[in-house]
Amino acid sequence: MEEKYERLRAIPAVYEVMAEFGHGEDFRPYLANDAQRVTQAVRQVLQRARDALVMSEESGGEGPWTESLENFEQALWGWLRAEVLRGLEQSPMSLRRVINATGVVLHTNLGRAVLHPEVADFVAEQAQRYSNLELDLETGERGSRYVHVEKILCALTGAEAAMVVNNNAAAVLLVMSTFAAGREVIVSRGELVEIGGSFRIPEVLKAGGGRLVEVGSTNKTWLRDYEQAIGPETAMLLKVHTSNYRIEGFTHTVSPRELVELGERAGLPVIEDLGSGSFLDGTELGFPPEPTISQSVKAGLALVTFSGDKLLGGPQAGIIVGKKGYIQKLRANQLTRALRIDKLTLAALEGTLRLYERERSAEIPVWAMLSMPLTTLQERAEGIASLLKHISTLRVEVRQDFSQVGGGAWPTVNLPTWVCAVQPTERSVNVLEEFLRQGSVPILARIQKDAVLFDGRTLLEGEDEVIAQRLGEWG
Ligand SMILES: *Cc1c(COP(=O)(O)O)cnc(C)c1O
Repeated sequence: MEEKYERLRAIPAVYEVMAEFGHGEDFRPYLANDAQRVTQAVRQVLQRARDALVMSEESGGEGPWTESLENFEQALWGWLRAEVLRGLEQSPMSLRRVINATGVVLHTNLGRAVLHPEVADFVAEQAQRYSNLELDLETGERGSRYVHVEKILCALTGAEAAMVVNNNAAAVLLVMSTFAAGREVIVSRGELVEIGGSFRIPEVLKAGGGRLVEVGSTNKTWLRDYEQAIGPETAMLLKVHTSNYRIEGFTHTVSPRELVELGERAGLPVIEDLGSGSFLDGTELGFPPEPTISQSVKAGLALVTFSGDKLLGGPQAGIIVGKKGYIQKLRANQLTRALRIDKLTLAALEGTLRLYERERSAEIPVWAMLSMPLTTLQERAEGIASLLKHISTLRVEVRQDFSQVGGGAWPTVNLPTWVCAVQPTERSVNVLEEFLRQGSVPILARIQKDAVLFDGRTLLEGEDEVIAQRLGEWG
């Protein structure tokens, strides 16, 4: 019994372990990268040591627990060091920060839009505190979570009412379930979009209980096609923005305004899935014209849906704006509860919308990246190249190339950029790609024939140095 307490007393405090490990070579990279994670690992291992000692009779697991008292302390330190290192090597979070050097701004596999730092701070604060999420502070009565973004969404789009759900797929599903269950939805054959495999307009429509009525052909749909398809079972006319592809050449589509006029005559709502949607007019940056959200609202659509994490530059969310009566019906649908937006997402969304409201949209990372001047891109590429020039096993070159918007927005647009092209002299480019992807901070770049391209457009502060550091380890 006495001995057990002696051993327990020998277990050091977290700060003692941290001070000791601070001198060790083997801990230096972890401490430099994320000291908090090391502290956490130390805390966990110390707790395991205490548990093992307290329960030594039953457990007797691997460790210095049965070492003689004289040797115990030294053996314990050896065990701590090995276990903490093992923890650090083995179990980082599954969800990890990566470096996006691909130049694809809205990369769905890499989490789409990056939040503005002020927005991220606001999310962190909201995560650690209670909030007025569903409380009206004026009256002290129960409130709605949607009020935090409804007014500002209306102000930014000119809509009468707004609400938000989990993502745009959920928004379309909710619209279908509310207005089209058991009835028909008329869609142009040119707009039966599939996005990223799991979202197909015909499937979502079906999941919402609606029946698809296809009209027109892939390249041409006329107003009379819609008109002829309208019948007693028709619930709505649906327009889907063909965000991730273009039909070019011999084409015709019906504008939202024309559809709205037809809808009014037939007493049917016209609803548009705008996909990415944008508050800003990209033509100022040289993008081809795309309808902004307020233009769609102005066309008189009953509802317009779009994503929070595409061109808006916020968190994953589905935003629905439109006429008051229709928004009210959506809120009353039971499905809304299942699709409802989480408070952290809501915080990220409100924070991002406030940047638009304060005319600070140019600072939103997505827009800052899209509008980055060519001179800055060239400087970035040259900056990376200069950090790599001493590495003899790499051939480094700065050249012009193209970045992409991604996220199904402006699919045909190639954004001129500058890249740092790196070619391994002794091994294949695929080995280099894997080496970059498997570092402590994974780096994703573009592969082009026999070179890895680093596009500065999507790099965030300090990431050029992380790239240089990793390539410095390339032998
Ligand atoms: C991206 C997109 C969606 C899906 O939006 P999520 O927010 O990813 O769910 C739906 N429709 C269109 C036209 C899109 O471009």
